[in-house]
Amino acid sequence: MKLSEVESLHHMLRNAQDVIKHQANELAALLESKNQELQEILGNIDQIIWYIDITTLTLQYVNDAIAPIFGYTKEEFLLDSTLWQQCIHSDDRPLVRSLFETLHPGTSQEIRFRIYNAGGELRWLNSRIYHNDKLHFFVGVTSDITESKIQTEEIAFLAYHDPLTLLPNRSKLKLQLHSRLEHSISSPFALIFIDLDNFKNINDTMGHEVGDQILIDVSHRLRELTGESHFPSRFGGDEFVVLFNTTNSQTINDFCTQLIHAFKNPFVINDIPFFLSSSIGISTYPQDASNPEDLIKYADTAMYEAKNNGKNRFVYYQASMQRAIHNFLHIESLIRDGLKHQFFELYFQPLLNSQTFTLQGFEALMRLPHPTEGFITPDVFISVAEKNGDILLIGQEVLKQACDFIQAVQKIYAQPFYVAINVSTKQLHQIRFAHDLLDCMRQRSIPPHFLKVELTESAVMDNIDIASRQLHILKEGGVHISLDDFGTGYSSFAYLAQLPISTLKIDKSFIQTLHEVDSNRHIIEAISNLAHVLEMDVTAEGIETEDQFNFLAKHQIDTLQGYLFSKPITRDTILKKLSSPIPFFVPETTMAFTI
Ligand code: C2E
Ligand code: CA
Ligand code: CA
Repeated sequence: MKLSEVESLHHMLRNAQDVIKHQANELAALLESKNQELQEILGNIDQIIWYIDITTLTLQYVNDAIAPIFGYTKEEFLLDSTLWQQCIHSDDRPLVRSLFETLHPGTSQEIRFRIYNAGGELRWLNSRIYHNDKLHFFVGVTSDITESKIQTEEIAFLAYHDPLTLLPNRSKLKLQLHSRLEHSISSPFALIFIDLDNFKNINDTMGHEVGDQILIDVSHRLRELTGESHFPSRFGGDEFVVLFNTTNSQTINDFCTQLIHAFKNPFVINDIPFFLSSSIGISTYPQDASNPEDLIKYADTAMYEAKNNGKNRFVYYQASMQRAIHNFLHIESLIRDGLKHQFFELYFQPLLNSQTFTLQGFEALMRLPHPTEGFITPDVFISVAEKNGDILLIGQEVLKQACDFIQAVQKIYAQPFYVAINVSTKQLHQIRFAHDLLDCMRQRSIPPHFLKVELTESAVMDNIDIASRQLHILKEGGVHISLDDFGTGYSSFAYLAQLPISTLKIDKSFIQTLHEVDSNRHIIEAISNLAHVLEMDVTAEGIETEDQFNFLAKHQIDTLQGYLFSKPITRDTILKKLSSPIPFFVPETTMAFTI
């Protein structure tokens, strides 16, 4: 080879070296910039990306995301390559270690564990870890799941707690009861069912916010009493149930007494005091029942009994209560049938003038002739209707049938007379009661004195203000008022005398034992005298014998009513009798009464 050729070859070689060097530099610069790009990207990810050596578990790389989560910089971690292990909650370290021991090459797995960060704060982390066999690394991506973990826990909490009072809810109580009863031998316990009295009124009149505040306050008072020993829960609305850890009646009595006492202090909301009480029912395991549903039902039943007995008290469940409830529901269904299919029929019992024996009027008495259940009398259905409110609908039916009857009698009977209808407390307490009654008479063009209203002392005394207002409206409208079952109510006579009452109706218990109980005769005489002084007239009901009749006629009883003259009879029977010339409503004796 010539020298010139060699030189040219060298030259080419140098050139090629320069090109290669240049290209290598360019490549290195490219690599560097790619590396920076990668760092930039990894640096901006809020998940921690890391890898550790498979054998020594020492940290080889981690991105910047580690700092805000752990509270240490990535440099600190790289300097102390086991720092990451020290941060893991000691309870979770074995879990993490066992993952590294069992993870197969080429596979990945997810793990949740807790760490304490530099500030000592507990955080929940989630890591996906990959076993990279080729690089001899475990590579991981870790994120902070503390927030979502809290949220899930909150959701789980809310599934079993009432968000308002934070007490365990109905589902939690049932779960608690079921788990307690899972074991065949479970220790005895009681369920204490608490219902606030008249809470609905507060909610309706003051609004839900006030109601909510009261419920929260109630839950605090309840928690204070149960302490850690018993399990209080909010069952729904204004109902709370305590799973009480003993059936010792003294302990239960003490608890319930304290609970009732705890309500004595008013609930003060926005500076307004609210006075509340509670009705409490108690069922016990295993005496009353052995499954949660029945135990709850029976405690609820006992609670209703407490309400019926006057509220603000506690009552233990008894089997007879369940029967009473069955009976109540049965009668209630018959009443609903009667209202729906118009089975109710008003009967009428004559009222006679004790001196002339002329007909003065009739007392209207409701019956429920049911096509399949037979003839149902008011002593069976009135008390149920008074409790469930159906008495208002029955009352409307009474008024309608009474007006029909008055108009039918008016057509065939020339003498003035009246129909006395019985009115219950609930009816009297309807704000519009007296107005509606007068409107109804006006619409049907029936003069008001054809109607009389019979009220018991308790209906009047229950809410004397409302009663007094209604009575005055009725009186001014021309409707007379009669005080029924007089003598049984222990009311203040001086008080009653101020009300516009025209008639006292002596209770039949006095009449029927008139000859057996001396004092009854004195009471009848006294009532009669007093009534006349006050310009009221007197009616005696329940007269069954001639002796009773003689005594009453002699003692200026004005009006007489009883089986001796006639039982309550149907409208058609009365109309037929009134249109016949034969005297009737006479005792079955030789006495020749005429009407
Ligand atoms: P009450 O108002 O004291 O009615 C008198 C009751 O005595 C009636 O019973 C009547 O049938 C009965 N009676 C009348 N004379 C005699 C007698 O000589 N001997 C006996 N042993 N009893 C006699 P009834 O019809 O069974 O009504 C019972 C109660 O049911 C009534 O007592 C009244 O409180 C209530 N009631 C009846 N109908 C109605 C109604 O339409 N509305 C309301 N709110 N209550 C009613
Ligand atoms: Ca009556
Ligand atoms: Ca009566």
